Order: sequence, then structure tokens, then C-alpha cells
Amino acid sequence: MEECECTNSRQSCGRSLLRKHGTSGTLDHQAMMDILRDHDSGICMHGGFETTASMVSELKRDGSTNHWMMDTAHPCQNKYAIQDIVLEEDI
Ligand SMILES: [Zn+2]
Repeated sequence: MEECECTNSRQSCGRSLLRKHGTSGTLDHQAMMDILRDHDSGICMHGGFETTASMVSELKRDGSTNHWMMDTAHPCQNKYAIQDIVLEEDI
């Protein structure tokens, strides 16, 4: 898991983690999944309010896409599954 360096809101911690990967050039789908599993930032939530599902999408410059989804709670405890998504415009 990544270490969150901020002590502020969940949103600002998320931005910090994204910036960290963006600066180092390591932001890919696996890094995004790690961010969604992060507890120090509060992004992966357990308790009264819980993460119920999450999704990572890779939008490539050539127009192709990859999507990973998890339709269960707690991304820290489950695996993402790659999904085929067909947008209505593509049908
Ligand atoms: Zn968790």
C-alpha cells in the first residue's frame, strides 16, 4: 500500500497519492487500484460508511480502453476483474 503523506481530507489525500504517482511516472492501473485500497487516506472505507464498489479505467490515446471493476465491498480484500464495457455509441 502507498503511504499517504497528508493529514487532511480523503479527497486531498487522494490528490496527494495521484500527484505522487504522476510525478514519478508510475500512475498505471495497478497504482490506481493500490490508491483505492489505501486506508491511511480513508479512501478504502470500513465501518459505518463502506466502499461498496470501485472501478479503474484506462483510457489510451489510441482510443482503446481497459476497465477493471469490483462489485463487492472492501477493495483491500478483493481482486479487480477486467470487464468489457460497450458504450451505447459503439453499438
Ligand atoms: Zn480496506
